Amino acid sequence: MILQNLHTHTRYGDGKNTPEEMVLGAIRAGCTALGFSEHSPLPPTLDPDGWTMVEPDVERYRSEVLTLRDKYAGVLSLYLGLEQDMDSSLTEGPWDYRIGSVHGLHANGCYFSVDNSAAVFRETIRQHFGGDPLALAEAYYRKLSRVAEATGCEIVGHFDLLTKFNEDGSFFDESSPRYQKAALDALDALSGKGLIFEINTGAISRGYRTTPYPAPFLLRELCRRGEAICITSDSHSADTILYAFAQATELARSCGFTESMVLTEKGFIPQPL
Ligand SMILES: [Zn+2]
Ligand SMILES: [Zn+2]
Repeated sequence: MILQNLHTHTRYGDGKNTPEEMVLGAIRAGCTALGFSEHSPLPPTLDPDGWTMVEPDVERYRSEVLTLRDKYAGVLSLYLGLEQDMDSSLTEGPWDYRIGSVHGLHANGCYFSVDNSAAVFRETIRQHFGGDPLALAEAYYRKLSRVAEATGCEIVGHFDLLTKFNEDGSFFDESSPRYQKAALDALDALSGKGLIFEINTGAISRGYRTTPYPAPFLLRELCRRGEAICITSDSHSADTILYAFAQATELARSCGFTESMVLTEKGFIPQPL
């Protein structure tokens, strides 16, 4: 089983624990490596709830992770990453890796989150997309198709995050040709660039979903194209660092994958699943 997680949040963003508490949680879970990927800062106008790291904390975050890397050397390999939102200005590195993510959209001069709550999602569709949820999906995937060039990421974060509140299909039909075309167009735009697409279990541990992102039809297409995956927990708490990794591994295998990328001191390498 994969014993590392590269998608980790702490109190610098919207996580519950300090970086060191996450390290101790990773050791308890039997991890061999842990990567921190705090949210890149968004301006307060785009983040009124304060779920991202604030600009003055970036250096503190960096030095705290690097200090922990020395302290736990030989016990656990630590990596300094960043979850770079497309609406953040690019946060200066060096970073061991970046996860590129879309969490929000602009429409009609407004900005709204796609993963805040089902109520916000419903209201956004009504107010800004004429009641057409697939128009929102098309806007989301159009934006996501540019995530690699906009963020310089190695890992594409939670590819179909906009399905967070849609497991029961109450917003839109994920098997509809129009939805699948929008998602597959983004996948097409991001393919062939040497990117890694994460299988992300974060919405399971937080009780929103029972299955990881992305959906099997996307994973099968990624596999068919020879694209790489990694398994992450998008963990916001020290007790969920390898959450549902067995389920994610099973999903990856069922979609045809035989290996997952892991980060090492020599960079990303494939590890058999
Ligand atoms: Zn995210
Ligand atoms: Zn995240």
